[in-house]
Amino acid sequence: MKHKPPLSVQILIGLLLGVLAGLALQAAPDVARTYIKPFGVLFLNLIKMVVVPLVFASITAGTCGLGDAKKVGRIGGKTILFYLCTTALAVTLGLLAANLFPVGRGLGQVAQESAGAAGTTVSVADTLLNIVPTNPVAALAEGNMLQIIFFALCLGGAILLIGEKGLPLLAVCDSLAEAMYALTGFIMKLAPVAVFALIAPVVAELGPRVLLAFLGVILVVYGACLLHMLVGYSIAVGGIARVNPLTFFRTALPALVFAFSSASSAGTLPFSMEAARRLGVPAPVRSFVLPLGATINMDGTAIYQGVCALFIANAYGIPLDLGQQVTIVLTCTLASVGTAGVPGAGVVMLTMVLQSVGLPVEGVALVAGIDRVLDMARTTVNITGDIACSAVVAATEGGLKPERP
Ligand code: ASP
Repeated sequence: MKHKPPLSVQILIGLLLGVLAGLALQAAPDVARTYIKPFGVLFLNLIKMVVVPLVFASITAGTCGLGDAKKVGRIGGKTILFYLCTTALAVTLGLLAANLFPVGRGLGQVAQESAGAAGTTVSVADTLLNIVPTNPVAALAEGNMLQIIFFALCLGGAILLIGEKGLPLLAVCDSLAEAMYALTGFIMKLAPVAVFALIAPVVAELGPRVLLAFLGVILVVYGACLLHMLVGYSIAVGGIARVNPLTFFRTALPALVFAFSSASSAGTLPFSMEAARRLGVPAPVRSFVLPLGATINMDGTAIYQGVCALFIANAYGIPLDLGQQVTIVLTCTLASVGTAGVPGAGVVMLTMVLQSVGLPVEGVALVAGIDRVLDMARTTVNITGDIACSAVVAATEGGLKPERP
């Protein structure tokens, strides 16, 4: 073909074909699992290969690139404020939606039956303490993103402090980050095939029947996610960053489609970096804000946790008063910070939210079966929030400088 369609169109085609293939393979999900899924896994492994060095190098270099400690503090403060506020709004929206459309009533029987199938639990204190790595090398080896980010921020700050002596280290981080971006560029060319291979097995395995049983919860989560994305972020990018929301979503589209199919914020990082670049977010800001966001900013996860907490409460017939719902807002905001940007991580953190208001942790089993479908929506919101934040922070720090590809 003479004119290849742009990557975003190719990815959309991959998504569409993947859904069709999944529907066609419903009678034989094994085929999808055995022959199609490995291509998706291969792609995710390639992305994972670059993500740890990319996040480490780009946050360290990004922190130094901001120039002085005051600027780091200012941009860091703005970023974290944006992330926390939007996340708290997101979970409130999730709770409102779930109160308005009370899903899960009458599922008590299922709830009893699935008791005992819950996974691990996580506490608030552990989540906070875990941010500081006792061994940064181990954090890098295990790919513990929150710890890597903490160490990279400290290292970046220290390099700034030692002035000239830090320049060689900065050059190493800079060039490592560049090399990882270049590698990512090659890997991204495979994205359309990867999207196809990731989505087909999900559709083949879950099929419309399982989805129908949980239609209520799925609709509420998707509805709240859409509202948060289309209204919340449009106001943020249109009002503060002065970017036309349509331009914003069009530019972010490849990243959003990839987030939807891969259900991984960390895996989508290279795509969000590219979207922010095309929106005109300067390099130091995007390499600081986006890896941080991929790890701590999870508005979609917060929406999901809010809805699911209420869904589980309804299923067990346990009413939640206003105080408990406020507790959920606070815990979800924190839990979403502690959620890793990988598929399914939100379920583990949901246990922390349930515990905070005394709901049975076994309730997680109720939503585990449809988690992937919910994960796709929440990851898309998570990524939109990261890109929106990078545009907002850049706009308040000297403005966006759009560049053409
Ligand atoms: N999959 C989500 C993400 O990577 C995290 C979650 O499970 O909520 O953004």
